[in-house]
This record gives sequence, C-alpha cells and structure tokens, in this order.
Amino acid sequence: MTTPHTLASSDATALLGVYARVGPMFVAGEGSELIAEDGTRYLDFVAGIAVNALGYNSPVFRDAVLRALDSGLVHVSNLYRTEPGERLAAELTRTVGGQAFFCNSGAEANEGAFKFARKWSGKTEIVAFSGSFHGRLFASLAATDRPDYRRPFEPLLAGVQIVPLDDRDAAAHAITDRTAAVIIEPVQGEGGVRPVSARFLAFLRELCDERKCALIFDEVQCGLGRTGTLFAAEQTGVVPDMYTLAKPLGGGLPMGAVLVNDQIAEALAPGDHATTFGGGPFVASVALDVVRAIADPDFLAAVRAKGARLGVALGGLATRRARVREARGRGLIWGLELNEAATPVVAAARERRLLVLTAGPTVIRIVPPLTVTTDELERGVAILDEVLA
Ligand code: PLP
Repeated sequence: MTTPHTLASSDATALLGVYARVGPMFVAGEGSELIAEDGTRYLDFVAGIAVNALGYNSPVFRDAVLRALDSGLVHVSNLYRTEPGERLAAELTRTVGGQAFFCNSGAEANEGAFKFARKWSGKTEIVAFSGSFHGRLFASLAATDRPDYRRPFEPLLAGVQIVPLDDRDAAAHAITDRTAAVIIEPVQGEGGVRPVSARFLAFLRELCDERKCALIFDEVQCGLGRTGTLFAAEQTGVVPDMYTLAKPLGGGLPMGAVLVNDQIAEALAPGDHATTFGGGPFVASVALDVVRAIADPDFLAAVRAKGARLGVALGGLATRRARVREARGRGLIWGLELNEAATPVVAAARERRLLVLTAGPTVIRIVPPLTVTTDELERGVAILDEVLA
C-alpha cells in the first residue's frame, strides 16, 4: 500500500474486480426506484437481488434503524444476552417451532446448516440438485450447480453430489445411509426461477425420514414473503428440518439465519458453531421490524394478489412474443425463459430505465420490492414487452 487511490469520475475504483458492474452510479432510492447521479430514475425489479423487500427508504426500516441506534447497542458479542436477537428468534420460529442461529449471509447460513446436519446425524455426505445455488463458500459452492463458479476453486468440500432436479430415481439412489443433509430451494432462484413441485419435496421428505438425514430448505431467495407466504414451502405442506434465510432478513443490512427443528437443536452444544457478528442487537432489532412487516397477513395477501397479476401479465407476454419460451414463478419472483441470451435484453431494459437481472444464460429474473405497486408492475411489463417486440 504505497499510493492512495483517487476516485476519478468515470471508472476509477479500488474495488477488487470480481463483479462486472454495469450502468450508472446510483446515489439514492425511493420506493421501487433507484436514482442515478444525474437524477434519472430507474424502476428497480432487482431490489438488491431480492433483498430490498420493503423498497428503498421505507419508513419501517428507517424507524427501526433509528430506534436501534437509540439503544446505544450496535454490537455486544454472543458471549452475552441481548434482547433483540432473542425476540427475533422467537418471531421467526413462531409458526415453525425449533430454534434460530444468526449469521451474516446466505452462504454462511447454508454452511452452518451443513455443520448442524453433520453433528446431528453423525454422517458427512450432502445431496443437492441441478440448477441449485447455495453460495460461494467451500461447502455451499460444492452444493451449487455452476461449474464455471466452481472449477477455479476445486477441490471443494468432498462428498457432495448434485443430482437432477425432480428425478425421483436419481434422488433415491443418491440419498443413502451416509447422507447427512439434502438441500433444495423450494423455488430455485439463480438457476432459472423454477418452482419445485410439492410432490418432489414430499418425496424428499420421505427419503430423508427413512435414511435419517436432514432436509434443508434454502429459502435465502424465495423465503420471507417473496412468494406470498412467510416461507415458500408453506404452500407445499412439506416441512423441512432446517430453513436457511438471509437476503431480505435485515432489510438491507447483512444478516442470515438457520432455523433448526428441536431434534437438531438438541444435538448442538456451546462451542459447536459461532460467528462474531451474528444476530447482534442492531441488525436483529431492525430485522425484527422487517420480519413483522412482512409477516403481516395483509402484506402477504397483497404480495399474492400482485404476484397473480404479474403472472398473468408475463404469461400474456410469453404468448405474444416469440422470443419468450415460458414465464414461470410464484408471488413476486418470476423468470422469463427466452429463446436467446438474456443479458442483451437486460441491457436493453436498463436503457429504458427498467432494472431486471438474469438467472442463468437465457432467463430474465424479476424480483421487485414486495411493496411494488400494480402500476409499477404494469409499467415494468410494458417496458419488457417493448424490449422483446
Ligand atoms: N442461497 C440462495 C438460494 C441464494 O439465492 C443465494 C444468493 O443469491 C445464496 C444462498 C447465497 O447468499 P449470499 O450471497 O448472501 O451468501
């Protein structure tokens, strides 16, 4: 470190080049819109990749942050008790039971869940599915079906198999008496926005019970209201042994969680797992207000109603536009499978001031703030329609 970097107006940056950043410099946000340096407003159907559930500058988030600051406690350490984390754990487990462990991201939540499964089961192997994305750390990446992300970093965690999604025979073959955990996203996000059938999830539940391994639902992207219920899996009637959560949990502050059932909780003891920042009073206090806002039945009903309208509009677009093969999704997570590469369409939408993202090479992903209005949804679909004409 000799010469300090200076920030030129265009491209100077001291940030490591692991992201291909595009578009303008954003300086503010309001509701479903991001505002660029020059004042241009972008309709944002990316929402920080399914993070900003309450939209930008939401009064719930602002008030929660200010109240959390007033306590004077940002961080205390998990060596001591603080109230917000305990209350947040109670809120998250209110309907599903069990206990919560807090961490700082989705990948960390999955890494924690794998450790908990190993400790509880006394076994080591992990089964995941094609199209999966579970994170970029060594175990979560091993369970992620993206060879391009994996290859430069191999060897990853050993004993992880990725089997075809929705293939019962393959799952029954892969899940054995050596399996510690089976991990699946009830609605796959990065892998192309694919809702997994309730039948397949129920089949996995049976297999996991038979072979005594933990079923983990990775709801990092599809959970916490995104599909119109607090947990996406609620709509399937299948109950996992662990849920992993992150993205919207802290309202934009980094936070993840693992919800574990009572049996797994009983297998864990002080010292088995830890993280310095996890569930500190500041983030936990903000997350409690975010989760309460999302869990409000009227809020969830509105997500379902808006999601249904968005589904109809995107279905219409798929019928009208030959470049679109299929629209699929649930609630406010939708994918448009194209007959061509998705990145140029994302760029064309951005030129028309709509932000959407890809989910794999040929899918456009739409994950607006859950507070998006029906007018904004119509405006966004109209822009996509224009771009795909
Ligand atoms: N799991 C799922 C389903 C995700 O979509 C993501 C991120 O996109 C992760 C895990 C990893 O989360 P993080 O980026 O917070 O580590």
